[in-house]
Amino acid sequence: MDQRDKSVKTGIGGINGGTPTPTSQLEASSALTEGVLDHPDCLGPTIKLRVDWHSKRDLTEWAKDIADWRQRKGFETSWENMMVKLMLVVTEVSEAAEAYRKPDRQNFDEEIADTLIRLLDICGSIGIDIEKELSDKMAVNETRPTKHGKVC
Ligand SMILES: [Mg+2]
Repeated sequence: MDQRDKSVKTGIGGINGGTPTPTSQLEASSALTEGVLDHPDCLGPTIKLRVDWHSKRDLTEWAKDIADWRQRKGFETSWENMMVKLMLVVTEVSEAAEAYRKPDRQNFDEEIADTLIRLLDICGSIGIDIEKELSDKMAVNETRPTKHGKVC
């Protein structure tokens, strides 16, 4: 089991539910980024979660991990609040535009990451198979003529 699986199976306020796992059971790996859980549903001492955010993963795994992280932080993403979530994506794009305008390339890169995090949270939360959707859409895009047939 990789560390991502372990963090999901702890189910601390996670999308899979379950019982919180004491810190000592999560300390098997020493090469992990440490996060601290501060969830209002958790009673007792602070529980430390370890997710290796630097491990290689595909987009589907990113979506699942980001959705789980978002839920552990006490936020909800669902079809019912989708308009809010889409506007938060726009907010991150706006922050990237502001960073570009300054210009602040480092902040620009961070805001692009924030944008992708918001989108992948949506994917992971409502079950969008983003790898399939990307493949299908790019296959369609490939069939389009140069500049979509516009004459310059
Ligand atoms: Mg941001």
